[in-house]
Amino acid sequence: MKLTELKPGETAVIETVGGEGALRQHFLDMGMIPGAAIRLIKLAPMGDPAEYRIHGYELTLRLADAEEIAVHKTTAVAEPEEPERARATEHPGLGEGGKFHEKRDENPLPDGTVLSFALAGNQNSGKTTLFNQLTGSNQHVGNFPGVTVDRKSGQIKGFENTEVVDLPGIYSLSPYTKEEIVSRRFILNDKPTGIINIVDATNIERNLYLTMQLMELETPLVLARNMMDEVRGNGGSIRINEMERQLGVPVVPISAAKNEGVDELIDHAIHIAKFQEKPRRTDFCGESDGGGAVHRCLHGIMHLIEDHAKEAGIPVRFAATKLVEGDASVLSALRLDENETKIMEAIIAQMEQERGLDRSAAIADMRFSFITKLTKSCVVKPEESRERERSRRIDAVLTGKFTAIPAFLLIMALVFWLTFGVIGKYLQDLLALGIDRLTALLDSSLTAWGTNEVIHSLVIDGVMQGVGSVLSFLPIVVTLFFFLSLLEDTGYMARIAFVTDKLLRKIGLSGRSIVPMLMGFGCSVPSIMACRTLPSERDRKMTVLLIPFMSCSAKLPIYGLFSSVFFPGYAPLVMTALYLLGIVKGILIALITKRTSFKGEAVPFVMELPNYRMPSAGNILRLIWYKSRDFITRAFTVIFIASIVIWFLTAFNFHFELVEQSKDSMLSVIAGWIAPIFRPIGFGDWRIATALITGFMAKESVVSTLSVLLGGTAALPSLLSLRAAASLLVFCLLYTPCVAAIAAVRRELGRKWAAGMVLLQCAVAWLCAGAVYLLGAIVS
Ligand code: GDP
Ligand code: MG
Repeated sequence: MKLTELKPGETAVIETVGGEGALRQHFLDMGMIPGAAIRLIKLAPMGDPAEYRIHGYELTLRLADAEEIAVHKTTAVAEPEEPERARATEHPGLGEGGKFHEKRDENPLPDGTVLSFALAGNQNSGKTTLFNQLTGSNQHVGNFPGVTVDRKSGQIKGFENTEVVDLPGIYSLSPYTKEEIVSRRFILNDKPTGIINIVDATNIERNLYLTMQLMELETPLVLARNMMDEVRGNGGSIRINEMERQLGVPVVPISAAKNEGVDELIDHAIHIAKFQEKPRRTDFCGESDGGGAVHRCLHGIMHLIEDHAKEAGIPVRFAATKLVEGDASVLSALRLDENETKIMEAIIAQMEQERGLDRSAAIADMRFSFITKLTKSCVVKPEESRERERSRRIDAVLTGKFTAIPAFLLIMALVFWLTFGVIGKYLQDLLALGIDRLTALLDSSLTAWGTNEVIHSLVIDGVMQGVGSVLSFLPIVVTLFFFLSLLEDTGYMARIAFVTDKLLRKIGLSGRSIVPMLMGFGCSVPSIMACRTLPSERDRKMTVLLIPFMSCSAKLPIYGLFSSVFFPGYAPLVMTALYLLGIVKGILIALITKRTSFKGEAVPFVMELPNYRMPSAGNILRLIWYKSRDFITRAFTVIFIASIVIWFLTAFNFHFELVEQSKDSMLSVIAGWIAPIFRPIGFGDWRIATALITGFMAKESVVSTLSVLLGGTAALPSLLSLRAAASLLVFCLLYTPCVAAIAAVRRELGRKWAAGMVLLQCAVAWLCAGAVYLLGAIVS
């Protein structure tokens, strides 16, 4: 029978996994291998995708993909063996008191060598948390050379000449996603002196799958077993010494969130790197496993390619397993000759026949059987952890058939209401008041000192007006980021993706795109960058292009100003309508492009649903700090300069004489050339044209420019009719994103896409604003 025929709560054993290529490899890497037990937990509220449990964790799968998997039902599922009582360990950082090291102090790297570590692990294993613990605040964010995937690195706190690079969260070293390729290339080419592999101890089977591939790379490695607080809290335990003995690498139990065991981890990491202690075990194929076919095949190939692998600088064991899996990039790097390729093919074919599994499945099976043996002897598992139980109860509501979508809407509404209506607003008013006071104070003291008129005007009308009005939005941006990271870190974002997948598929995307799109309400720039985690090129492009339609928080000042002046009392309504309009436009564009530029099926949706967790306050505070710093930096660079430029252009005429009235200034002349474009849609005034031009630099400056030009915003109603104001709002909502966002799009998709997007958006904005203006004429 097919996996789709399973009913909720039923368990079956996988017989065969269909499909092909990278996708099938991904299924296998996620543990869907012949012989594995799989249970259907539930279907998403809209009937698709489904949530399955396999190897002790939950993952999502679309029904169309589940069709590819053949199963037979079992009634007697092997119950987990009665857990042995945990042996209490004193301190999780010390394990059972053992410290595994092969070399004591032989052949250390010369003093002063920079010890560089790659921090590798699955998604949600606590990488960010550990990275922050390790580096404190000394971190730099950049790109991996040549690719646009975030590269965070930093020095280990208190250890000079060290560097930790936070690799993207990955499940395997097969080249399925960009992340996996980047991580693999980093370890193979940049040759870090050591690897810190972080493993979620509550989900050990799936996490160790990556570990084994990392160990095959023959780079010194230390295993950090994270979340030990949860494991111990549930009566689980791990025999550290036994595990170290079997794997031949140091194993350190830690709790990144509670900062337990991190010092020990650093000690071990530095030791293995300094003394270049390679993993003692790289061989995971048992001589008798499944008749030993895989073992013989791998070793045969290893001997066959040894010289080529050495030459190419690829660890031979890693090369051999990847060759069996059919990895094209390893194959071409090795440059085997025709004969060798033939022999290899014959060896693999023989193994497939003897083992009764195809090559990829055989390798995945080999890894999982090693893991099963290892965990049986080293891990004392709790029956059912409290966290999983709690997650199940929360999920009953948050992904439940009838409650999921109302809950989603409610949560999002709550987030937006709290951000824009309560917390953000309150803090914003406070900050605005402070800025006003400061401006008044500066004004009077500048007058008292008898400062030159030009300087006075520069400080008060230029800088304080411009920067000040933008700065007062800091609280809203920070609050929104706070909530978004809360949703992300708790694990709810993954559920949102699960619940909304079917809907997003209608516009040709997958549920994963919802996360960057929601973040787009905060700021397009990080959201566009977040698209890097999307596994398909097509989804990535499409999501990037849709994000600017999600009205970013920098546009809020514009909405806020105009609705308070033109639609007093209706501000929430106006804002909601604008947000909805943006979303609807995005959907329409997606529907059109889906049938034209982006034909093809959305990628499969295989995603882990992690347990709900309390996010660590440190992570969130740090994020808020970075975001605020970012925002403040922008305020004092881009916007500072823009304010001065605008002030200069308004204060002087083309003869560089100070003008009495801004209508004689340079800016009025320049903007006067552009303004006619906007006349048909209701706002042909040069000051508005100027504001829109500066909005190109940063959306916040639309407001600051207007207030500089008008000397306050009280004069707005004399400038615009009600319907012109509505038209202008729609134009601001839809026209080109700011320079930073365009730069991000360019970085992700290239110049052509970026230019195309800007043109398309401006055209769409003009048309929609025109429509609103017309509609206004009809209504009134
Ligand atoms: P990443 O996706 O690998 O970067 O994982 P994060 O660092 O974002 O962590 C995922 C979630 O696990 C967050 O909610 C963290 O607060 C939580 N977490 C991380 N480390 C621990 C830990 O040691 N114990 C517990 N209980 N939770 C943790
Ligand atoms: Mg993270």
